[in-house]
Amino acid sequence: VIPDVVVVGNGMAGSRVAAEIAAREPERRVTVLGDEPAYNRVLLSAVLAGTAREPDIALARPVPDVRLTRVLALDRTRRVVRTPAGEVPYGTVVLATGGEPRLPPVTGLSTDLPGLHTFRDLTDCAAIGASGARRAVVLGGGLLGLEAARGLAGRGVEVTVVHAGPHLMERQLDAAAGRVLAGTLDLLGVRTLVGADTVAVLGTDRFRGLLLAGGERVHAELLVVACGVRPSVALARDAGLPVRAGVVVDDRLRTADPHVYAIGDCAEHRGRVYGLVAPAWEQAAVAAASICGAPARYTGSTLVTRLKAAGVELAAMGEVGDAGEVVQFADTARGTYKKLLIRDGRLAGAILLGDVSTVGLVTQLYDRGAPVPPDRLGLLFGGWPAAGAGTDAAALPDGATVCRCNGVSKAAIVTCARAGARSVTEIAARTRATTGCGGCAGQVAELLAGTGEPVPARVAG
Ligand SMILES: Cc1cc2nc3c(=O)[nH]c(=O)nc-3n(C[C@H](O)[C@H](O)[C@H](O)COP(=O)(O)OP(=O)(O)OC[C@H]3O[C@@H](n4cnc5c(N)ncnc54)[C@H](O)[C@@H]3O)c2cc1C
Repeated sequence: VIPDVVVVGNGMAGSRVAAEIAAREPERRVTVLGDEPAYNRVLLSAVLAGTAREPDIALARPVPDVRLTRVLALDRTRRVVRTPAGEVPYGTVVLATGGEPRLPPVTGLSTDLPGLHTFRDLTDCAAIGASGARRAVVLGGGLLGLEAARGLAGRGVEVTVVHAGPHLMERQLDAAAGRVLAGTLDLLGVRTLVGADTVAVLGTDRFRGLLLAGGERVHAELLVVACGVRPSVALARDAGLPVRAGVVVDDRLRTADPHVYAIGDCAEHRGRVYGLVAPAWEQAAVAAASICGAPARYTGSTLVTRLKAAGVELAAMGEVGDAGEVVQFADTARGTYKKLLIRDGRLAGAILLGDVSTVGLVTQLYDRGAPVPPDRLGLLFGGWPAAGAGTDAAALPDGATVCRCNGVSKAAIVTCARAGARSVTEIAARTRATTGCGGCAGQVAELLAGTGEPVPARVAG
């Protein structure tokens, strides 16, 4: 029997596309071939921080036929994928191979060196957690690096973040926010060095530290490399499909070959490789619909970055610069920084650091490109649209997206609560809200409370 759809990669995008196809057409034969069991990769930060355990982050098996195997090659002429156990024929194949950690060209930097780890999968996470190091260096001050650093500091490890960029998270933050964030991290036991070029890794038998361009040596027993992700494109490239940064796909998530789709961290759509779960899951839904014959189109995603690090509240979206009207507030001593960038009456970008109480409203304005209300202060500090209007979640319009990872609206959550869901866990089971990064769990609990139903003290995520 020829399996109709073969999904390569059992990660967040692969397992989701398989589940979506099975939900649409239960009779369809879907086979998932992946070299890892499926788990919520986003929550590896929580595993490293010790707030979640490995079994907590497992994802349900999306279809009965999931095989733990590496796929070695894609043969488009014969429509088969090759595995060590033999060939698997396909009618349609979905590449969901994700990405691999990028290793910067630094002398002596090799994953073969004991004490040096990347941070991408469960194996990395377990190795970092088991290292027993007293001092660690995290190379890279982006989202991933800072989450790793905060997690290690929470375990009592002395951590230094070495970042080549001009300030922390420069893709999401301006310089002032980067400085406030560095101050907050310092109080949490994470030292940060920015504008720091790494010249060499110290130690040949095992990792002993980093040598920086200024001559400074940062000594440690553990190095976590968090310098970005390179899309895993080898299967597509070797099969002669167009590849730029990622596997090039159209609005249906199809490659140049109509029998081959690509989604998630390995795919490049309209020149963008996202590297985030919300776009990956949106792409999975569109690819599934398209494979099942529905006229779905993916036109791109708007991104909101949330840092998942205990003691650091941060949400950032859109442009970082100052081209437009800037509404800004900084209280460095308290670790608070807020900024709205408004252009043509719409939100072009926003940073909420230290206090994200208005994140729902700000995100909603950004998502919809809606006119920014005249009460700018209310948007930064709450009380919008009128003082005393209630919570952020309560003030959201029904159509607002609450769970960004899964694209779940306020209306869907409220409807679910009114239909009898009694807890965040039940809402999660019925709508998928909170099951991505978990950052919306507080808002979902608020909405549930607003319907008059009891909310359990502990919320998911
Ligand atoms: C620690 C951490 C924290 C993160 N936090 C966030 C966050 O807060 N928000 C957010 O949006 N994103 C976050 N991300 C990114 C997010 O995890 C990814 O965007 C998401 O996992 C992409 O899904 P994917 O299925 O495309 O790739 P993956 O989840 O990487 O899955 C790809 C799978 O394919 C397998 N594979 C590859 N090649 C083959 C082959 N030839 N044969 C068989 N199997 C193969 C891989 O082993 C892997 O299991 C985080 C990532 C990490 C590592």
